[in-house]
Amino acid sequence: MKILNFGSCNVDHVYSMDHIVAPGETQTTYKLEIFPGGKGLNQSIAAARAGAAVYHAGCIGKGGEMLEKILSENGVDLSNVRHVDEQNGHAIIQVGSDGENSIFLYPGSNEMITEEHINSALEGFGKGDLLILQNEINNLETIVEKAYEKGISILLNPAPFNEKIKALKLSHLTYIILNETEAKGLTGTDEPEKCLDYFETEYPELRVMLTLGEKGSVYMENGKKTYREAFKVKAVDTTAAGDTFTGYFAAGLSEGLDTEEILKRATAASAITVSRMGAAPSVPTAKEVDCFLQNI
Ligand code: ADP
Repeated sequence: MKILNFGSCNVDHVYSMDHIVAPGETQTTYKLEIFPGGKGLNQSIAAARAGAAVYHAGCIGKGGEMLEKILSENGVDLSNVRHVDEQNGHAIIQVGSDGENSIFLYPGSNEMITEEHINSALEGFGKGDLLILQNEINNLETIVEKAYEKGISILLNPAPFNEKIKALKLSHLTYIILNETEAKGLTGTDEPEKCLDYFETEYPELRVMLTLGEKGSVYMENGKKTYREAFKVKAVDTTAAGDTFTGYFAAGLSEGLDTEEILKRATAASAITVSRMGAAPSVPTAKEVDCFLQNI
């Protein structure tokens, strides 16, 4: 099973400053740090570090050169990544001295995906392959439609949740991975059991992976639920916890692991991620996950 991830790549600009700027205020910042980000990129790196063959599809714009570098350093195939004449998608993140933050995001290159790009990226994939999607790119509906026609299994992480997700044909998906916020957006409730009841009634064939932060996760397939507690770790930065989980979950599927093993590895990998600072750089390798599980 090959993994194609059609997803976003962002450059995160993190400014440390006294306080988040007020309307009309100008402030000089102390420090600027620039990180690779975007859910698509994080998930591709997580699946690749887990050991899977990962093909990333998407658009890189001006200022996004570092993103290709980190993807290829992690062994991700970039033959379906295109260059576009637009600013790369980026986030401007203000972090005040009290730790409070404020973020705005410019999607830029991530919203330049054309139908021709979709056709060409899906060409090398078919039945038995897995497509990962999140909600940070344009043309999601078309991608879902075309991948479904080709018999590709689709795994959707409906994040960030917005009205665009409601327009998608969830019946075309094989898997959905969502956290409590996304669950609430889609099902109207963040109570795990009620949320699973909703999916069981509305989409009985959909395999649902609900992540519950430090409370762990629950997976449902054909009405059978598998619960998994999170590992107890000292969380220092929960950024990319869900992306790590998604990448490891997809990699586990591609390796043909059983559900218990997939959940164990995805839970361990995301526990390691939250115990480290940063997004993509904090995602562990399969070896680190093995080591963590041996020592637990
Ligand atoms: P997201 O990052 O998308 O909001 P969650 O917060 O549900 O997703 O986290 C995904 C997974 O990461 C959880 O199911 C859990 O296994 C792991 N995780 C998240 N927070 C913690 C934590 N504080 N301690 C240990 N594991 C965690």
